[in-house]
Amino acid sequence: MSKLSQQILEIVKDSDKHMTAEEIFLLAKKKKVDISLASVYRVLNSLSEEGCLRRISFSNKADVYDKSVSDHGHLVCSKCKETVDLEFKDLRKILLKQTGVDFDYYELTINYVCEKCKRLKEKRK
Ligand SMILES: [Zn+2]
Ligand SMILES: [Zn+2]
Repeated sequence: MSKLSQQILEIVKDSDKHMTAEEIFLLAKKKKVDISLASVYRVLNSLSEEGCLRRISFSNKADVYDKSVSDHGHLVCSKCKETVDLEFKDLRKILLKQTGVDFDYYELTINYVCEKCKRLKEKRK
């Protein structure tokens, strides 16, 4: 793994958030890592291909990168897009049984409106 890949991987692993490539780029800049946005995209791509990170795609926002590559799903606020990890006990077993294929991983996103956004909405009323 190149030094740049290592630095980018560290940035993602140090964060508790699911970040977009641009957010990772801004953090890298803050940490004085000498890298362009295009290279951040390239590095993130190969890190996800190597299985060091997982890329999560959403239909209406930029992809985010996840340091956790074990089985889990996501709870996503449809307003602010905050993404929280969700553990589903036995889901892999259930999916294996129902699909009958030995899949690599699943993506499960549950959309909701978080408390913060709910409160904001109520204030505006
Ligand atoms: Zn929200
Ligand atoms: Zn996650």
